[in-house]
Amino acid sequence: RAKKKGRNQYMMASADINAGGFERLLLENNLRGALEREELLLHFQPQVDLKSNQVKSLEALLRWNHPDLGMIPPGDFIPIAEDSGLIIPIGDWVLRTACRKMKEWQESGYPPVRVAVNLSAGQFLKSGLVENVKRILQDTGLSPSYLELEITENMVMHDVHSAIIILRQLKELGIQISIDDFGTGYSSLNYLKEFPVDTLKIDRSFIHDIDTNPNSIALTKAITTLAHDLNLKVIAEGVENFKQLSLVKQHACDAVQGFYFSKPLSYDHVVGYLHNDKQAPIHA
Ligand code: C2E
Ligand code: MG
Ligand code: MG
Ligand code: MG
Repeated sequence: RAKKKGRNQYMMASADINAGGFERLLLENNLRGALEREELLLHFQPQVDLKSNQVKSLEALLRWNHPDLGMIPPGDFIPIAEDSGLIIPIGDWVLRTACRKMKEWQESGYPPVRVAVNLSAGQFLKSGLVENVKRILQDTGLSPSYLELEITENMVMHDVHSAIIILRQLKELGIQISIDDFGTGYSSLNYLKEFPVDTLKIDRSFIHDIDTNPNSIALTKAITTLAHDLNLKVIAEGVENFKQLSLVKQHACDAVQGFYFSKPLSYDHVVGYLHNDKQAPIHA
């Protein structure tokens, strides 16, 4: 296999992974040791508040720097991690590392922002989640008010009663909860009023054609109105250009996350980004 790094290499990796079967098994075996070999890392993508134009949170996004295949995006290996149960140790590592990094940034004097961490279904449904989150906050010293957990609709709809109990306990710790990819799952709007959540993240699929598709505008408007009536905040995911930004602003989204402001950043680049009083860069 070619070891050269670059675009071609990733395309090859992706093709291999999608081939399933044998390659998938190899990858699963590789993933087993990835944590110990320190091949996993986090990138952080800013979420910008539209009123203040300041970064309010950083979402931690997992990457696997595979020695032969190069940087593998989470969509290609998280399903494998979920099926094999590896998501539990990997998810723990993500949560702990994200909290530790955020605490370090705060201690080195950067203006405090929250860190948002994605939970997978396997983590959410496993007993002991609340205790685990509590322990990680204690160990790292991060204040709970600086942690936000992202869940998806499907995770909570699976067992609504248990989900509500878990979410309440997480809220009691003082952390924030967001519903990720909102609008793509099997949500029942009726349950939304029972879930103690803070934020809805409008899925990227509604934003990417918002400048050309009136239905996407209609859905964005409907989600924003619903959220605000329920006292929730709304983030638009995947804002890539000024037109999309203007439209989500016009339709009252509270914050945006997307390539327009920033791609997910490595540790070093985050520091540069936070440096300037959290102010999001002004685009022409
Ligand atoms: P997500 O949580 O919805 O994260 C947002 C994804 O959208 C990220 O992809 C981000 O890079 C991408 N994105 C953000 N802005 C834009 C934009 O303007 N244009 C486009 N085209 N894409 C944009 P990424 O990093 O590949 O992550 C994909 C998914 O993998 C995440 O979706 C999340 O569901 C999952 N994931 C990532 N890290 C973790 C993790 O630590 N644990 C778990 N369980 N899942 C994770
Ligand atoms: Mg997310
Ligand atoms: Mg999302
Ligand atoms: Mg997602």
